[in-house]
Amino acid sequence: MYNFRVGFGYDVHQLAPDLILKLGGVVVPHTKGCVAHSDGDVLIHAICDALLGAAGKRDIGFHFPDTDQKYKGIDSKLLLAEVKQLLAADSFEIGNIDVTVCLQKPKIAAFIPEMSESIASVLQIETSCVSIKATTTEKLGFVGEEKGIAVYAVALIYKNKV
Ligand SMILES: [Zn+2]
Repeated sequence: MYNFRVGFGYDVHQLAPDLILKLGGVVVPHTKGCVAHSDGDVLIHAICDALLGAAGKRDIGFHFPDTDQKYKGIDSKLLLAEVKQLLAADSFEIGNIDVTVCLQKPKIAAFIPEMSESIASVLQIETSCVSIKATTTEKLGFVGEEKGIAVYAVALIYKNKV
């Protein structure tokens, strides 16, 4: 008998010129990047929150506060690896993850397979279990005005009921 749990994550970062844009552990060439205490990988942050939410373990800011110098500029893949450990400590395994990235520019379709692979390798799951989709907001709102990127993620986790 499996105990299935679902979690939801949402994250937004502001975009600013001359910063590196990193999404799903992949550097995407662009004129702007995410303003952040960490490396600003908004895609990974939303996934972390979905996984933590599924496990009932608060959120990314609770575990990795942006007031802590230890996390300044940190590679978000390291945070994701720690989240996996937190779940594993409770015997949770990761089923699948589905993500929607909302951004006006740049087009990220060509980078999606690499992003899925990078996330799947950190979480040690199959690449097909990490779905990433992208959409614009038809030039509406802060995303459409290229002021920021928003990411929505859901994750399914499970464990064998004892
Ligand atoms: Zn974030």
